[in-house]
Amino acid sequence: MADKRDYYEVLGVSRDAGQEEIKKAYRKMALKYHPDRNPDDAQAETMFKEAAEAYEVLSNPEKRQRYDHLGHAGVDANGYQGFRTTEDIFDSFADIFGDFFGFGSRRGPRPRSGADLRYNLTISFREAAKGTEVDLELPKREQCDRCTGQGSEPGHSPQTCSHCGGSGQMHHSQGFFRVAMPCTACQGQGMIITHPCRECRGRGIVQVTRQIKVRVPAGVDNGSRLRLRGEGEPGEHGGPAGDLYVVLFVEEDEIFKRQGQDLVTQVEISFIQAALGGKVEVPTLDEPISMEIPKGTQSGKVFQLSGLGLPYPGGGQKGELLVQVQVKTPTKLTKKQEELLREFEQIEKEKTGPKVKRFFRKVMGE
Ligand SMILES: [Zn+2]
Ligand SMILES: [Zn+2]
Repeated sequence: MADKRDYYEVLGVSRDAGQEEIKKAYRKMALKYHPDRNPDDAQAETMFKEAAEAYEVLSNPEKRQRYDHLGHAGVDANGYQGFRTTEDIFDSFADIFGDFFGFGSRRGPRPRSGADLRYNLTISFREAAKGTEVDLELPKREQCDRCTGQGSEPGHSPQTCSHCGGSGQMHHSQGFFRVAMPCTACQGQGMIITHPCRECRGRGIVQVTRQIKVRVPAGVDNGSRLRLRGEGEPGEHGGPAGDLYVVLFVEEDEIFKRQGQDLVTQVEISFIQAALGGKVEVPTLDEPISMEIPKGTQSGKVFQLSGLGLPYPGGGQKGELLVQVQVKTPTKLTKKQEELLREFEQIEKEKTGPKVKRFFRKVMGE
């Protein structure tokens, strides 16, 4: 997405920072925005993820080089999607978190945020250029309404497992060793749902089809990601829901190509128009417009029409429309037209002939 911040800026380091400096900067950010220090703070979580993504790229020499050359496109184009959840971050940098905080990945029955979801959406070039609204149908797991995700029929609650006494573990003796195994009666949960909810059969989660309206802003590019906060998978144990990322695929257009926020198109003109100048019709995203071309226009010449390109994210300005003219050579001439062209050729020879002779005389010192 175009609103993605520069990785160096995210970590607050210069572009020529060394690996140690980058690691140090990331350590600072990770400590500051760590979810354990900022419970239920969505902004801190975003910063935490952003810093991890920046560190993931900048700490890898190959990814960093690609990013330096091509920006976000250089790493995004290779299917790099950033981190889905904070759990991913703990998993990826378990070694770093180990030496940062003295513990590895964060596990256990704490609240866990739901996973982020990804939806690939194909739109036409014009829809991307002008913006559009799309209704998505998403299969989605949601917390069951009937039991508010608890899994028990209303009026009932889970009972302590009598098999393991609520510990969730069974101990077996094997020779000298005592081995702990998850309790098979409660699957290690310590609780048993005696009256499973009719709606979700005790799982606390139901599968639904949800309709979501997505507003695609004008000027988005291939690979742009839209983030819909809280539309991902439901959280567990009271954790927040994940986000939905809509990844955009933009179809090619027959008339326009894209160069950043500029549009590029080609128009054909006759060699007469090229020589004498005149008006030609040029396609735009809206109605075609008339463009003046000067006398003696060469084939391949590019004209810039400002304000007719794609809007920059954040609105206001627009890119340019670049019109490249192609001079068309006639393939079928009437007799009369051919005669006129021969006459034209004759005049052209007479015009340049003497000049060339004069030039040679000069060179030869005559
Ligand atoms: Zn239920
Ligand atoms: Zn049990």
